[in-house]
Amino acid sequence: MISDSFHPFDDDKLHEECGVFGIIGASDAAAHCALGLHALQHRGQEAAGIVSYDDIHYHQFSAFGKVGDSFNSEEVIKGLPGKTAIGHNRYSTSGKARRAANIQPLFAEVSFGGLALAHNGNLTNARLLKKQLVEEGSIFRTTMDTEVIIHLIALSKGVDAVECLVDALKQVQGAYSMVVLAEGRMIGVRDPLGVRPLVLGRLGSSYVLASETCALDIIGARFERDIQPGELVILDGENPPQSLFPFVRTGQRFCVFEYVYFSRPDSQVEGRAVYEIRKALGRELAKENGIAADIVVPVPDSGVPSAIGYAEAAGLPFELGIIRNHYVGRTFIEPGDQVRHLGVKLKHNANPAVIKGKRVVLVDDSIVRGTTSKKIVQMVRDAGAMEVHMRISSPPTTHSCFYGVDTPSQDQLLAHQMSIEEMRQFIGADSLLFVSVDGMYRATGEASGRNAGAPQYCDACFTGDYAIPVVDNETDGLPLLDSVLVETAS
Ligand code: AMP
Repeated sequence: MISDSFHPFDDDKLHEECGVFGIIGASDAAAHCALGLHALQHRGQEAAGIVSYDDIHYHQFSAFGKVGDSFNSEEVIKGLPGKTAIGHNRYSTSGKARRAANIQPLFAEVSFGGLALAHNGNLTNARLLKKQLVEEGSIFRTTMDTEVIIHLIALSKGVDAVECLVDALKQVQGAYSMVVLAEGRMIGVRDPLGVRPLVLGRLGSSYVLASETCALDIIGARFERDIQPGELVILDGENPPQSLFPFVRTGQRFCVFEYVYFSRPDSQVEGRAVYEIRKALGRELAKENGIAADIVVPVPDSGVPSAIGYAEAAGLPFELGIIRNHYVGRTFIEPGDQVRHLGVKLKHNANPAVIKGKRVVLVDDSIVRGTTSKKIVQMVRDAGAMEVHMRISSPPTTHSCFYGVDTPSQDQLLAHQMSIEEMRQFIGADSLLFVSVDGMYRATGEASGRNAGAPQYCDACFTGDYAIPVVDNETDGLPLLDSVLVETAS
């Protein structure tokens, strides 16, 4: 039984949303890597790190804050020499201890030499494995699930880095897209269900791995293909990519929330343009839940493409009735309820010139705690709207994600606590409706909707259908293995 109120390392989360990037065979690998991470900034803003390799040594630089604030000097980039570099952006923790050791890529020295690893996703049996490893004598430096993989690699009897990595990954469960640097090679790997994205690109003779294609675009790299679910790709800087499928194939369950919210709209994910899917979500929303209104207004930026689709399908004018201040981070990044509320106020402002006297359809991609919608509906009313109809381009978020998206515990999800009518009252809208699960699937190109027998995506946050067992959640009585160290991070 999955108890959704459980969050494995709630105080100092061991998992979070992330972006990964790697390049091999480029003379200025670290600079490219920094640019790639900058393009993936939306996937994580708390900290960033790069490890480069110059054929003898590994070089590491990591810092809290945005990529542009840390990797912004020649000195930093010069400190990361070599033709290979991998990097990682991490999302905010829930506001407790910030731990410098948790900034990825993680680095370790193991039997075959140096090993750097950057992971996007979340392992669902990490706590159990960590308990076993600690009992056997492993010494953990971080509170990240990713470190479990490092220890499993170190203990493996494999003959090289690839064998050790495969050996380790066969013991973990969960969602992962990873970029690894070892033995002068760059390795990319996606979990068997392909929950999180990972793409392969090419820049001249160098190869690139990245969470999303927008990170290829920024350095002018050409998109080659998605790494397949369960695929491990080896890049040695000279030969064409070598591809292995070392895991039992269990079908594909890409995270549908990447399309709904998480990926950048200019990315192509799993062969589909995120922007087009978001527009299609808006069209489905209008078809299923249209209403008489004067204008369609997006909640920027997340609601913009679906509001365009909604307006198109409903034949209504699309208006920028809410203006976003771009100098404030994403609402969720601000830890703590007080600041989160303040964040919403800082971030959006209604545009009375557009809204006054109108029947407004407000479009956003999701309601999580309801903080954003409540504020925005009030703002639009204060700006003189006659009616406010909230439309959401995903189904109600009823369940927590255990695979790498930072949703709060289930008891904090508005759609878990309330019926849609109660939610409507809570946010203060005249009406509130969501796209259906089948409508969401149709928008992704699945004409007949969700295939109940074998769903095409991971949609656990909307359906509670967890594609990968959350072992840590099911194992009672595991002692908390959070570090007892309180670090004052600079
Ligand atoms: P809330 O205000 O708690 O209802 O959150 C909904 C808002 O947060 C919407 O505007 C979404 O675009 C955005 N959002 C949804 N999921 C996430 C997430 N995992 N991380 C950051 N923002 C999110």
